[in-house]
Amino acid sequence: MTVWDVAVIGAGAAGMMAAATAGQRGATTILLDHADQPGRKILISGGGRCNFTNLKADWTHYRSENPRFCRSALARYRPRDFLSLVEKHRIRWHEKEDGQLFCDESARQIVTMLEDECLAAGVQFQLECSLSDIRHDGYIFTLDTSWGAVQARSVILATGGLSIPKLGATDFTLKMARQFGLRVVPPAPALVPFLLEEPWPDLAGVSLQVTAALVGQKKPVFTGGMVFTHRGVSGPAILQISSWWESGQALRLNLLPGQDAHEVMRAVCQQRPKAHAPALLEALPSRLVRVLVAGKLDERPLAEQPGKAIRALAAQVNDWVLNPVGTEGYLKAEVMRGGVDTRDLSSQTMEVRTVPGLYMVGEAVDVTGWLGGYNFQWAWASGVAAGQSAAER
Ligand code: FAD
Repeated sequence: MTVWDVAVIGAGAAGMMAAATAGQRGATTILLDHADQPGRKILISGGGRCNFTNLKADWTHYRSENPRFCRSALARYRPRDFLSLVEKHRIRWHEKEDGQLFCDESARQIVTMLEDECLAAGVQFQLECSLSDIRHDGYIFTLDTSWGAVQARSVILATGGLSIPKLGATDFTLKMARQFGLRVVPPAPALVPFLLEEPWPDLAGVSLQVTAALVGQKKPVFTGGMVFTHRGVSGPAILQISSWWESGQALRLNLLPGQDAHEVMRAVCQQRPKAHAPALLEALPSRLVRVLVAGKLDERPLAEQPGKAIRALAAQVNDWVLNPVGTEGYLKAEVMRGGVDTRDLSSQTMEVRTVPGLYMVGEAVDVTGWLGGYNFQWAWASGVAAGQSAAER
């Protein structure tokens, strides 16, 4: 039976990057996936345009129990390195806010690019291939697959996270991690909308800029868009904070970031004493203002409204506390947080410390990026680190 130098499991972002890297370094490489096509999450990413990296990506943009773990891989394969690859394949791109890079045309270009890199490096694809187990005799790994046994000197596990089950997400890497005695940080949906016990379906679609934080925690704080949904709240700032949320925690939202709502309202009261309550918050969507004002201010002109009521409204605007009852879960989560505990991996190579030749990369590892291209950058960087090391064994 052929013994491959490297077998990569999962033809997604990290797996294709790892396989291409290993193949380019001369390793005979096979890439296995249970799906009928590679890179399905890449195809739906960034609204179909793939936010393929973020120029600002460094270790400070990730959540992990071991925050500096990702530093080495990210420093050795930078956003500019991936951008050079994109440009080599003549894929046109543009920068949105905050260093986020997207394809001008389609996410498919990124998948095609990675497939081409793999094929040029001699990687053999084995799609529609299910795996049931991995065994290790101390030297060779044997993979039990629906196509029969596959043997390799190194195995790179890159089966991603649990989000979007309809795309075939599985916990295979986590299962194997436990089987090989590794610790797993409990996984949970992240970059995910919140559910509220009493949502405001009438506000669905209303959006505004906010800062979002968690009650009782100074950091992190995210400024960005928020949108009301039929069942709760979503939008970039909300998705970002969801990655830090634990069940039972309350959210703190500032609906007028950088402004003192009381000052703003006082000025309106002085300048337009005959106006009515909605005039107080003209910077906010009027449908939302109606909800905020209800029960605090009445129909009288501003000059006749009690100062106490105006102060209470201002306090709510700058510090609105919402109590999520949960999240939309893996069905809507952009990523999974938690995963293989990084204390059991080498930060240089992503190799399992106790099982030479076994590597774990990408979203399955406890490194969760912010929204905005950071998760792909981690997939590329961790894939390259493992691919290089596996090829050199
Ligand atoms: P994946 O890319 O998910 O690849 C895992 C692969 O493993 C898949 O091909 C899967 O079929 C295969 N697999 C799974 N289980 C098995 C098994 N048991 N046997 C064999 N094969 C298996 N991140 C960004 O940075 N920018 C974005 O614009 C962005 N947009 C996103 C939009 C959506 C809707 C979603 C859901 C995610 C988005 N992400 C984005 C996150 C990003 O897609 C992931 O973080 C990234 O794909 C993770 O790469 P990965 O290789 O670890 O896993």
